[in-house]
Amino acid sequence: MSDALQQIVDGSRRIVFFGGAGVSTESGIPDFRSADGLYRQQWAWAPEEIISHTFFQRMPEEFYRFYKAKMLVLDAKPNAAHLQLAALEKAGRLRSVVTQNIDGLHTLAGSRRVWELHGSIWRNYCTRCGRSYTAQYIRDSESVPKCSCGGLIKPDVVLYEEGLDETVLEGAVHDIRQADTLIVAGTSLTVYPAAGLLRYFRGQHLVLINRDATPMDGQADLVIHDKVGEVLGRLTITPPDDAGNTETET
Ligand code: NAD
Repeated sequence: MSDALQQIVDGSRRIVFFGGAGVSTESGIPDFRSADGLYRQQWAWAPEEIISHTFFQRMPEEFYRFYKAKMLVLDAKPNAAHLQLAALEKAGRLRSVVTQNIDGLHTLAGSRRVWELHGSIWRNYCTRCGRSYTAQYIRDSESVPKCSCGGLIKPDVVLYEEGLDETVLEGAVHDIRQADTLIVAGTSLTVYPAAGLLRYFRGQHLVLINRDATPMDGQADLVIHDKVGEVLGRLTITPPDDAGNTETET
């Protein structure tokens, strides 16, 4: 199986990686829909409800109780998947990472072109005056974090009922359209519009690496039901033969 992946990677120079919460479980951050994911845990409200725009506005105390306990993970380290993707980009094989994750681990691993479809826990801003705040400020605030102007601070993460950032969306679509290989990993492909971006892919190889089956398994050229960190960790990464002569596109 992973020989087939190695062959595909060795023949590609414009890979796009499209990932989800499963990419970070090997860093100790739980996903949403696995058996041990956040959606199976007991809260007074369903997580989908808590991390919605309406809930954030109506009950910021409860929102932040959940957010700080379950989503604001600041001490996680990149795993083999994050590190290998950064190495693939550096070697000139990978164009960009498109992620549904909000944990910032791709950037921490050294990836440079990362489209964070759902934003990042590392950016926060005042909903009244726009002032920026660090993630540590949010963590250390009591209950609901407030700005010096008195406004409510919101993490720069896309909540249910909110739209995706247009620049990020356009960048991700552009790269997926140009990709020769699309590796989709660690995502249940059930969160839209993110999952819908796969339809823009017109390249040669669609690879799916996911522990559980996904709705796209039947359409992929290669399906690997295994841990993404372990699978990518086994890849040998070499630059394309003509590296250095490649035209780059922005
Ligand atoms: P999901 O929870 O719906 O699905 C995760 C998928 O990853 C599952 O199908 C599971 O089988 C698979 N998986 C888990 N660990 C894996 C591993 N080590 N290797 C391979 N596959 C593995 O996640 P989703 O599709 O990304 O949608 C959830 C939403 O929740 C996203 O929008 C994301 O923003 C958000 N989220 C983000 C984080 C994070 O930033 N780390 C964590 C939880 C949820």
